[in-house]
Formats: sequence, structure tokens, C-alpha cells
Amino acid sequence: MITSTLLDALRQALPAEVILLEGRDREMRLADAFNPLRGFPRDRSPWWQTPAAVVMPATTGQVAAVVRLAGQHRSPVVPFGGGTGVMGGAVPPQGAIVLDLRGMSKVRSVSVEDRVVWAEAGVVLSDLDAALEPHGLMIGHDPWSTPIATVGGAVSTDGVGYRAAKYGSMGDQVLALEVVLPTGEVVQTKALPKRASGPDMDRLFIGAEGVMGVITAAALRVFRLPEKRRHAAFSFPTFEAGFAAVGEMFALGLRPAITDLTEEPPEEEGDVPVLMILTYEGYKEEVSAQASRSAKIAVAHGGTNIGPAKAQEYWRDRHVPGYRFKSDSQPLLPRERWERAWPWRGLGDYMDAALPASKVLEYRRQAQAICQEAGVAIRQAAVWTQPELYSMVLTRPGDLSELASFREVSDRLLRLAQDMGGSMEYCHGIGLKLLHLAGREWGQNLEAVRRIKQALDPYGIMNPGKLGL
Ligand SMILES: Cc1cc2nc3c(=O)[nH]c(=O)nc-3n(C[C@H](O)[C@H](O)[C@H](O)COP(=O)(O)OP(=O)(O)OC[C@H]3O[C@@H](n4cnc5c(N)ncnc54)[C@H](O)[C@@H]3O)c2cc1C
Repeated sequence: MITSTLLDALRQALPAEVILLEGRDREMRLADAFNPLRGFPRDRSPWWQTPAAVVMPATTGQVAAVVRLAGQHRSPVVPFGGGTGVMGGAVPPQGAIVLDLRGMSKVRSVSVEDRVVWAEAGVVLSDLDAALEPHGLMIGHDPWSTPIATVGGAVSTDGVGYRAAKYGSMGDQVLALEVVLPTGEVVQTKALPKRASGPDMDRLFIGAEGVMGVITAAALRVFRLPEKRRHAAFSFPTFEAGFAAVGEMFALGLRPAITDLTEEPPEEEGDVPVLMILTYEGYKEEVSAQASRSAKIAVAHGGTNIGPAKAQEYWRDRHVPGYRFKSDSQPLLPRERWERAWPWRGLGDYMDAALPASKVLEYRRQAQAICQEAGVAIRQAAVWTQPELYSMVLTRPGDLSELASFREVSDRLLRLAQDMGGSMEYCHGIGLKLLHLAGREWGQNLEAVRRIKQALDPYGIMNPGKLGL
């Protein structure tokens, strides 16, 4: 419920059309792509509450007005982008105002000379690429979810896309941010690739899941469209051999835009148990040099060049899950989506751990032992975009009655990554799903970061509870 005084204040401050109070408008924003049937968090009760109100602001001033009023009335505010987050970062608590940033979807400026675009938070990634293309430019961030995820959401999760090996994560591409702080003040940094005038303020908001403020616009480093693109695929006799090849490529400075080393149990004849997909792009001499040197390294480590077909297919189909999610989910209310995912087709989870490269193979060995002991299959495991980033897809037959024991296995794997000097998640954030391990993740830094949060958000209104803050 929203109090009538807050509602009156919002109505006075904002045009009527940006305040959405209808049941369906609010119900649509009670969840992102994290399905609670995936089994986390342990206590669901405070979450997945129908928002008290949805506001879809069109300007930074309107965002500031909402946040200021929410502070005065101590109402939680949850920033919402494309709603594709898979951890529950955008899931509202009781009484929240959800700020749907998709009303701010302008590309403010493109500078070919500076290679910088200023885009509002609600611009969808594929729309941004479409706007840049006539200028011969592109964003490097290229996740599966590109047809729905927004600039603000991708910065706030510091997402990793297919071509991150060459262009970095979404956060790496940020040159400046415009942010509405939890007190309603607007701050903006300068769009420069380098400053030596104090700590980088943008980093406070990158990957912050909306707990430090609302990003209203971002200046992003953009890249010239590649002159040339080339694909290659190699099979390996063992994961260890393929991993050594990736390590050697990176040590030498090679950066195939797509670097993916995946192992999965073969399902059909002809399936390759360990497959390396490489896509090179850039200026033509660079592409040739990267392709020939990577091929030499792969073969020297026992790889077999199986031709480009599998890599071409990978490239062609890389956004299919995103388009499928868009067409399947967007007409449905979250509760309808969850019901459609029923009946339960067995237990499953995916995890994306970051580890020192020197620890990846040992982590893999211990993870395999844990899963084997618990009867969990590792359906797929991969080094994605760089040697330090290790992902797994886990499955086990069973129903919800076995969820708790399945969850224990995932937790053991997450804690193992932390204990080996790694991070439990490199791609999707903490959200609600990993909240119970957030304290372990922050370690001794928790108190310092809580003090920063307290200083910026004295009333604790900004996406409260997320990130363990
Ligand atoms: C099919 C599918 C494929 C996916 N593939 C990938 C992938 O390849 N790589 C990857 O990294 N992720 C992937 N994801 C996860 C998801 O797309 C990313 O996390 C994405 O960056 C979230 O963007 P969004 O706009 O949907 O954000 P939302 O889900 O709306 O929000 C994510 C978080 O950011 C906060 N937030 C949103 N906007 C703002 C803002 N303007 N200011 C402050 N905080 C804000 C929210 O409160 C929430 O905590 C995938 C998801 C799906 C469903």
C-alpha cells in the first residue's frame, strides 16, 4: 500500500501518465527473470510483493523527484530495467515504489571522434547497437539478453557478454555516469578514459544492483564495427589440454572476441566432449594474426581444428535464448510465467564463479567430486571469455521435496569458490539468490561498504536488503 500523502505528493510532482497504479502494471514488476521456484532465497516472505506504485519517469528530474519524496516518506525504491536479471536484484519488498527506467530511452549523443555514446538508462542494448550502426560503431557488451536488457541494468549487474574477452564487461565500458543519489541529488562524472584525480566514483555504482543510487544515463566507450570477423573451432582430448591452450593465448596477449571452452557429456554421435569456440574480429591483419597464432597454440596443446561450422552456428544462435525469453515471458505476468515453468522438470541450477586461473583446474576437480558424491550431474562446464571465469550447469532428477538437499550442493560449490580466493559470481550479481552468502563474499570489507551505503542512503530506501547491505 502506498500512503495517500505520498501518492498525493507524487501526483503533484509528476505528470499523471508516468504513475502506474493499475493492478497489471504493478503485478508485471513484482519479479525479474529469477523464478522463485529455483529455490532461493530461504525466506521468501518479504519479497515478490506487488509494488505499491510503479513510476515510469521520462527525465532525470522526475527520477530525482520520486527518490526525494520516497526518502521523505521512508518508502523503498527499486530501480527496474528490462527485468532480465536472473538473481532477483529487481524484486521489490513490501510497499516499494518500482522505478521503471524504460521511460528514459533516448540516445543523448554519439561522438564518432571520441568513440563515446551517452545513453539513457532505459535504452535496450540491441536498440543502442542499432542507433550506433549508422555511425560505424557498436557497443562491445553482447549478452544473450541483448534484445531486452537495458543500459542501466547491464551496468548495475556489470554483465558479461559473449565478446567480453576483447571488449570487457559492461562496467569496463563505462566512462561516466549520471546518477540520482538516494537523497535525490543528481551527480554526473566526466566522460574520460583516464583520470588521476581521486578514486573512480563510477565504480560505486557499477555492479551495485541499484543499492547506491539510480543510474539515469551512462557514457559508454564504443568500438568501430570490425573490418573483418572469422570463426574457428577446435576439439580437445581433455579439458585440461584446452584450458592450457586458453591460458597460453591469454598470456601471449591474444584476445579472440569470443573465447569459449566448454565440456559436456556427448549426447549424440559426433558430439565433441571438449570444444573450443573462437571468434576473432577487428582490423584484417589483426584477425589473420590472431587466427593463425591461436590455431598453432591450440594444435600444440593437442587440439584438432574441426573447421568453423560449430563456431558459425554459435555466433548465429547466440541471442536465441534472449529473443525466446522476450516472446515467451513479456505478455505474461510473473506468476503465470512461474506456473508455466511447472511441472518441475527436475532440479537445475547454474553458477558462474571467478577464480585465479591457477585455481581453476583444482576447483573443477573438487566440484566434480562434490557433485558425484551428491548424485548431481554437471551438464556443462566452461571457461567463458577468459581463463579466470568458470561456469557450470548442474542438474539432478527429482522434485521440490529434494530442493533443500540440491541447494546444499550448490552452496558447497559457491563456498568452495570463495574459500579458494575466488568470487561466487562473475556475471549476474547477488540479488536475492545469493544473499545468504553475501556476508562471506564481502568478508572484512562488509562494514566499510555498509558505512558507504549508510552515508549515501541515510534512510535505507534504495533497493534495501540487496547485496547484503
Ligand atoms: C535469457 C537470458 C539471457 C541472459 N544472458 C546474460 C548474459 O549473457 N550475460 C549477462 O551478464 N547476463 C545475462 N542475463 C542476465 C541479465 O540479462 C543481465 O543481468 C542484465 O544485465 C540485466 O539487465 P536488465 O535491464 O534486465 O536489469 P534488471 O533485471 O531490470 O535489473 C538488474 C539489477 O539492476 C538494478 N537496476 C536496473 N536498472 C537500474 C538503474 N537504472 N540504476 C540502478 N540500478 C538499476 C535492478 O534494481 C537490479 O538489481 C540473461 C538473462 C536472461 C533472461
